Amino acid sequence: MLVGGGLGRTPYLGPTIRRSLPARHLLSYLQAILRVYNRHGRRDNLWKARIKVLVASLGAEEFARQVEEEWDRTDKAAIDLPDTELARIRAAFAPLGFQTLPRVSTVFEAARSEDRGLARFVRNNVVAHKIQGYAIVKIALKAPGETPGDCSAEQMDIVADLAERYSLDEVRVAYEQNLILPHVRLDEIPGVYQTLLAAGLATPNINLISDIIACPGLDYCALANARAIPIAQDIARMFADPELAEDIGELKIKISGCINACGHHHVGHIGILGVDKKGEEFYQLSLGGSGEDDAALGQILGPALPADRVTAAVDNLVAVYLRERHGAERFVDTFRRTGLNPFKEAVYADAH
Ligand code: SF4
Repeated sequence: MLVGGGLGRTPYLGPTIRRSLPARHLLSYLQAILRVYNRHGRRDNLWKARIKVLVASLGAEEFARQVEEEWDRTDKAAIDLPDTELARIRAAFAPLGFQTLPRVSTVFEAARSEDRGLARFVRNNVVAHKIQGYAIVKIALKAPGETPGDCSAEQMDIVADLAERYSLDEVRVAYEQNLILPHVRLDEIPGVYQTLLAAGLATPNINLISDIIACPGLDYCALANARAIPIAQDIARMFADPELAEDIGELKIKISGCINACGHHHVGHIGILGVDKKGEEFYQLSLGGSGEDDAALGQILGPALPADRVTAAVDNLVAVYLRERHGAERFVDTFRRTGLNPFKEAVYADAH
């Protein structure tokens, strides 16, 4: 159980307060957590009325101790769902109609060895499925130069048709501002790819430098300090060459137009935060964040930069990475090994 994580003005990684909990006790344990928060949470201060603030001020160990104490005196049987109810809920989720398929599809293998575009798409946008003969197809709404996460009504119709015909009627929306067809048969991937390609939806850049998360920023959001979308567009245009993007490898850029962090900039390998300096749009860069299993909050690189310096700064950061990386090391791992200095020097030497 991880409690007390969150982004926004005061970002925290959620500490683990319990390493394992039998599933049947989930409700009673959650109630114990909420009771402790209810008892000590900062209702006196709107900005501090967050469970993350309480966990940080008490310390994870003390918070965990209080939760366990509360849970011990909880009448679990009165709160946790009985097995009969769990079975009833499980039964409502009918198994999907997966077919029994061979592990390897010769149609798929032949198509990707003939078509380099398909091969690139598969390398970057297709991931393994736990059911043999199926795969998960990610649709990047990140064509370089377009608004991250945007999709026209016509494109959405096409995605809905693909989901209906080839993905057991399912399409999902990812927080990375992309779409996912979760259950595509391997032998149907070439056809799905061709349809996506014709619709302008086959950008092969999942998790690459142009797969940028950007919040609506000053273009649409009343709370913003600065624009996020044009910054994302400029960076993506600069790295539009798919060969270059693949060579750079996994690099997650996340942009928020203000400290509320809707673009999750704290957990970007490169985070970009819009700030207001005397009415002008500036951007603070941070490096080394991650929202994955290797979760980390980014470290601020240095003074905020004006809008017209941001793309060049990202270019400099990438150049340092390409110079310093060991083998197939990712950007974030190079950063963790070298620390801020080489990156800082490159960006600020260029700024003066
Ligand atoms: S981070 Fe700020 S600017 Fe961006 S959507 Fe959230 S509140 Fe608006």
